[in-house]
Amino acid sequence: MKKRIYLDYSATTPIKKEVLDEMMPYFSELYGNPSSIYSFGREAKKALDFARDRIAKAIGATSKEIFFTGGGSEADNWAIKGIAYANRQKGNHIITTKTEHHAVLHVCQYLEKNGFEVTYLDVDEYGIIDLNQLREAITDKTILITIMFVNNEIGTIQPIKEIGKVAKERGIYFHTDAVQALGNVSIDVKELGVDLMNFSSHKIYGPKGVGAIYIKKGVKLHPLIHGGAQERKRRAGTENVSAIVGFGKAVELAVENLDGHIAHLNKLRDKLIKGIQENIDYVKLNGHPTERHPGNVHVCFEFIEGESLLLSLDMVGIAGSSGSACTSGSLDPSHVLMAIGLTHEIAHGSLRLTVGDFTTEEDIDYVIENLKVIVDRLRQMSPLYERVKGGQ
Ligand SMILES: *Cc1c(COP(=O)(O)O)cnc(C)c1O
Repeated sequence: MKKRIYLDYSATTPIKKEVLDEMMPYFSELYGNPSSIYSFGREAKKALDFARDRIAKAIGATSKEIFFTGGGSEADNWAIKGIAYANRQKGNHIITTKTEHHAVLHVCQYLEKNGFEVTYLDVDEYGIIDLNQLREAITDKTILITIMFVNNEIGTIQPIKEIGKVAKERGIYFHTDAVQALGNVSIDVKELGVDLMNFSSHKIYGPKGVGAIYIKKGVKLHPLIHGGAQERKRRAGTENVSAIVGFGKAVELAVENLDGHIAHLNKLRDKLIKGIQENIDYVKLNGHPTERHPGNVHVCFEFIEGESLLLSLDMVGIAGSSGSACTSGSLDPSHVLMAIGLTHEIAHGSLRLTVGDFTTEEDIDYVIENLKVIVDRLRQMSPLYERVKGGQ
């Protein structure tokens, strides 16, 4: 079979065997509805509670503060719309950043059409917000600060604890999208001072279509999904029991070997960065040099078009992702790359490679070797590159 190397762990991850093993019985013999009072239901309910305990423990919360959702995006929607509508009488102002995931940005844009005002904070060249700018953006109408923990494109980690302090001083709710943080940085909700934090299972070797949100005790927010009394009347719909069971196991695995996982990723990431820098010229590394996701490599190759690069990589079996949004039908480069101040030309040559638990050193060697050849070939077709090289 043709060699295939997956370097897109920030897009999704394979389910680990231990996770799948725990899920299996809940597709067949343990099929009860957790809301039913007879034994079939009680078994399912017990499985939900167990998963909830595991997640709570992993982030320093209590079980009653964890609610399951149909994924990370739903949880982002719930946190932001839920706080916005529950606190409408207090104010209509929300603060976020220009580099959020679309599950946050598009919710904010939707709220702007519905009577809310949103401040989109700038970030510096590494993708980090300015705490003074945050303080200055707060008004007496501000009800929510929503700033992501770890950026999904360039891997930058925001100063969450400091943001939590600012929010607390001013009595404003603080939500953070921690989808890329869970399993990659250590998380303690109490220490970080957040009120709402959300997660997604499929980014941490669990099944797709399930996520969770931490809602600090006492925080009032409207439901997003109305209906039955599931999740203590806060999120309707029969729970996806097997997926929640798998998610619980995935979270447990993610935190029990956090240091080992981070060390593995860092080693491969650094090898990949070094290999790229030593073998390819006109390349720029994006994101923060130290405050970054342990497995994220984000680079821009000058004189190259990101989409052609991705297609060429795919032909040799390498799966990566591009920062330019051509795949989604738009020619505009990623909003994150614009926010860190890249020009359109540079941003168009971007490539995100994210390593994970199943990545090996041989994978990285193969990628470096092929990347060099592909970049050289694509640049041969660039008149600008030829001119720049000729002028040297
Ligand atoms: C993947 C991702 C999401 C969306 O999660 P889904 O479970 O795919 O809906 C939200 N935020 C960030 C930062 C992500 O990386």
